[in-house]
Amino acid sequence: MKAVLFETFQEAPKLVTVPDPVPDAHGVVLKVAATGVCRSDWHGWMGHDSDIELPHVPGHELAGEVAAVGKDVRNWKIGDKVTVPFICGCGSCSECHAGQQQVCLHQEQPGFTHWGSFAEYVPIHQADLNLVALPEGMGFDTAASLGCRFATSFRAVIDQGKVRAGQWVAVHGCGGVGLSAVMIAAAAGANVIGVDLDPVKLALAKEIGAVAAIDGHEADVPGAIREITRGGAHVSLDALGHPVTMTNSILCLRPRGKHVQVGLMLGEHAAPQVPMPKIVGQEIELLGSHGMQAHRYGAMLDMVASGKLDPARLVGERISLAEAPAALMAMDSFRSVGATVITRF
Ligand SMILES: [Zn+2]
Ligand SMILES: [Zn+2]
Repeated sequence: MKAVLFETFQEAPKLVTVPDPVPDAHGVVLKVAATGVCRSDWHGWMGHDSDIELPHVPGHELAGEVAAVGKDVRNWKIGDKVTVPFICGCGSCSECHAGQQQVCLHQEQPGFTHWGSFAEYVPIHQADLNLVALPEGMGFDTAASLGCRFATSFRAVIDQGKVRAGQWVAVHGCGGVGLSAVMIAAAAGANVIGVDLDPVKLALAKEIGAVAAIDGHEADVPGAIREITRGGAHVSLDALGHPVTMTNSILCLRPRGKHVQVGLMLGEHAAPQVPMPKIVGQEIELLGSHGMQAHRYGAMLDMVASGKLDPARLVGERISLAEAPAALMAMDSFRSVGATVITRF
């Protein structure tokens, strides 16, 4: 099969031919129909992820068709159209037994712990636990974004942030995760404020439901949010993963507000300074959010089916596998609006 592979961190990945994967007993192999290019893939390529062994094929936001099935798989057959959370549970640890596969103790992540979906085929383990059937009529390009950005934002806003109608929600960073969070929080009835450096992304944030947009170049972003919200946001997300957006997110909260860290903080940003006096004095909650387990997809997909959420609006550029190396290496420049998806292999 064709695959995009890198042999050294930070050196240009190449389009190469490698052997087709075979499913293990409890797994499947998917024929990839669409796969998003995500900032997490960029972190992996930079060498920020200790799970990655070289040589490596990135790619974790995927949708496709079941092409081969292991002998112990009960629920899936060749031709089924599916997506998968980027964190796959093992099915046998205490977190998986509690239904919390997104923090599985032995989790696997395509594109990190094994070769991913920047390829014609990708193996997925524990298929009965981790695969999610696509609803009728959903395009593969839309479905690809569900596996990481959209599902991650759904869990961050709904399950971790517990956003309720009428609350003020601030979203710092309006890339793929942030725009998804804006749409989901607005659908939940919140008043959403988007923050970004890019006026095009801010305009899109307003189109999909934000009631206000703040230019991140502004000197006092938290102050601007506290003014609009008359006291601070109830819930705020760092959807980028940077010390500046993280700090702004915490400082823009009202007392007893919730900060949800969604963007990864890796490499030089792995140990940021946190404004602890506000967290203690105002009883701020700090929450992490890490993907979303397969069994929670139903709630999200029902909101897509009913038209309350429209992830197709967040698909940006569609590119070929041959264009993936350049797109991956450019992920840190933040030029793309919406999710870049590989749809031609
Ligand atoms: Zn991702
Ligand atoms: Zn597990």
